[in-house]
Amino acid sequence: MLSHRCAFCGNQTHFTARFGRTWDLDTEIFDGRTYQVGKISVAATCDACQEFNVATGDLLPMYRSTNVTEYLSGDKLREEAESMTNASWSPPSMVQADTEYIPQEIAGFFQEAHDAFSVGAFRGVLLLCRSVIEATAKINGINGANLLQKIDNMEEQKVVRPGTKDIAHAIRVLGNDMAHGDLDDPPSKEDAEDVLKLVRLVLDDVYVADAMRRDILTRRGKPIE
Ligand SMILES: [Zn+2]
Repeated sequence: MLSHRCAFCGNQTHFTARFGRTWDLDTEIFDGRTYQVGKISVAATCDACQEFNVATGDLLPMYRSTNVTEYLSGDKLREEAESMTNASWSPPSMVQADTEYIPQEIAGFFQEAHDAFSVGAFRGVLLLCRSVIEATAKINGINGANLLQKIDNMEEQKVVRPGTKDIAHAIRVLGNDMAHGDLDDPPSKEDAEDVLKLVRLVLDDVYVADAMRRDILTRRGKPIE
């Protein structure tokens, strides 16, 4: 199946192959039969939003009564595209952040942190996660000379629970090097993933946990306080 998370709409969906090109074509002989092998690139439209994404991968090694041609379209293309293996896609797919219950201003930073992750901009992830904490303090009217003080003040004014304060400090510390332009030790994919997990915990505490509790009780006609 030619399916993938679309770079444009974010849906995990099937793609329809529109045009293809093969290269590196070769033949291999197994058990006395000739198998054709090679690479294929396919321009395909997302079944959800119709935008073009490009998949590149391996042709299924198989006996073909006629060799595939350099350019493919129509049924022959669709057959080869659907059976390709090891597909890699361009542009890279965007990871959709779950922003339910999160105010739009904060959600913007959070989604952009995920966008940065999708394209491997791991320094950007750390900076944007730090910005999520800054923006959360600001939107809740929390002041302070620096982020450290703002996080402490968020706990003092009960915007975050005590345990969440420590998580916010961890995000601050991990993002500090990026914010101050440190050149050694760029963050890895794992660093960026970890910081996204920590930010999720802070947002769940500040926005999601209580809103979800209210929502669940309200739907059952129970008092919320
Ligand atoms: Zn799409």
